Amino acid sequence: MDYVLSNVLIGSQEIEDRVERLGLEISNLYKGEDLVVVGILKGAVVFLSDLVRFINKDVKVVLDFMAVSSYGDSTRTSGIVKIIKDVDASIKDKHVLIVEDIVDTGLTLSYLVKLFKERSPKSVKVCVLLDKVEKRKINVEVDFRGFEIPDDFVVGYGLDYAGMWRNLPDIYRVEKCNNEILKG
Ligand code: 5GP
Repeated sequence: MDYVLSNVLIGSQEIEDRVERLGLEISNLYKGEDLVVVGILKGAVVFLSDLVRFINKDVKVVLDFMAVSSYGDSTRTSGIVKIIKDVDASIKDKHVLIVEDIVDTGLTLSYLVKLFKERSPKSVKVCVLLDKVEKRKINVEVDFRGFEIPDDFVVGYGLDYAGMWRNLPDIYRVEKCNNEILKG
């Protein structure tokens, strides 16, 4: 079984407008504060690079990154999270904002929030671009949310299928297709 691009679920202009609003909300909340923005590689990279440019200069932003992998196949998460790359800086006594591309079951984010909270930060909050609310298996508080989406597998704007399609400016649904049909 393979996947092909289906329709655009969220277009680039709608994404940009929403990301700008999220940047303003974050700017208001952290005005005058230091903030460590932690992007979760690789899916959050495109979102994070747009988002941080909408956070204004009244917030002292430091960027950091974390890479995690969840055991599972390409379209399903197992909830067992392995840290591939940790953040570089200490987050002790710092405000931390975790930036993630998508929350599905919530297992990855709840693991990360717990991990950061154990490191004595001043606060830990979460910003996700996409939220599949109906798929949630574990409760995780999302402080800044771009869009609620239905239970479809999506790619584009940083999100991939088997490493592909992260570069697309719009967010697409993908659908299963039978390889034999493609070959035929
Ligand atoms: P969770 O642990 O919340 O179930 O899953 C979070 C991770 O699953 C995301 O960081 C992402 O890597 C992956 N994921 C979940 N749904 C999708 C989706 O629709 N598209 C893509 N590309 N990845 C997804």
